[in-house]
Amino acid sequence: MNEATLDISVVIPLLNEAESLPELTAWIARVMQANNYSYEVLLVDDGSTDHSWKVIQGLSKDNPAIKGLRFNRNYGKSAALNVGFKQAAGEVVITMDADLQDSPDEIPELYRMIKEQEYDLVSGWKKKRYDPLSKTIPTKLFNGVTRKMSGIKLHDFNCGLKAYDQRVVKSIEVYGEMHRYIPVIAKWNGFGKIGEKVVHHQERKYGVTKFGLERFIYGFLDLMSITFVSKFKKRPMHFFGTMGTVSFFIGMLITLGLITEKVIRVFTNERGRDVVAQPLFFLALAAIIIGVQLFLAGFLAEMISLSGSRKNEYLIRDRVGNL
Ligand code: UDP
Ligand code: MG
Repeated sequence: MNEATLDISVVIPLLNEAESLPELTAWIARVMQANNYSYEVLLVDDGSTDHSWKVIQGLSKDNPAIKGLRFNRNYGKSAALNVGFKQAAGEVVITMDADLQDSPDEIPELYRMIKEQEYDLVSGWKKKRYDPLSKTIPTKLFNGVTRKMSGIKLHDFNCGLKAYDQRVVKSIEVYGEMHRYIPVIAKWNGFGKIGEKVVHHQERKYGVTKFGLERFIYGFLDLMSITFVSKFKKRPMHFFGTMGTVSFFIGMLITLGLITEKVIRVFTNERGRDVVAQPLFFLALAAIIIGVQLFLAGFLAEMISLSGSRKNEYLIRDRVGNL
């Protein structure tokens, strides 16, 4: 991370966006100069196979505020954002897609909302979208579910254009497909002042979209795992231990019942089914074994969480512009 602080870091994850980059960075530079901001643009090349990296090298040479970082392969948008967040030196960090669908003209107002209105995070809302229906309809559904599960009143969780107070990006980890849930992750980390700003959206000018419909399935699984992790990360034993205890005791109760019944039958000399011929016996057996297994899973989870996660190590191939 750079030592000197800047007003703004713009973090841009990109995959095969060579045509858009010169236009986008020139536009950002114009906005920054017009407003007298000190800034940096962090272009994170997420394993492009076109000539994006060449373009980035050229741009960085012409303007030292433009910095580039290149992954060794495609790790995904979340990974690119995560690395960009780690590097960012700006007091306000703004993320933006590389495809010119988001407008740099929104930057001054986003910056003002973070600095003056003291929002932790401001998310863009593409109120009027320029995307095909196959995308906008599932998106509505996704936003509805996420709103319900998280209690955050945003219309457009997945908008690439967002602004953050530096403290937020320095304290969260984004991986998998979790870039769609950054507001949720932020809220669970105690950054609850989340705002929304209607932003202009444009059709993709160059290239094609990098996400298909599988985004919604992965996204949903990720929401389940962040819900789980944020609740139990610190104390996995609370989850596994509770389930294990319940299961174990159900098993023990049934076993006691079976034993009592058997003893009574011995004394009264009554004939009946063998213990092992009763369905309840197998239920008890399964419940006890599952109970013990859950306990073991809990202990393992505790040990893993103690030894720390190595989830966010990405191989960086190249850097330009003093990074
Ligand atoms: N992107 C990336 N890595 C990926 C996929 C996408 O860095 O694996 C970037 C992409 O280059 C763009 C942004 O993430 O800057 C949003 O992607 P895209 O425009 O394809 O998504 P859409 O606007 O269709 O949701
Ligand atoms: Mg796009």
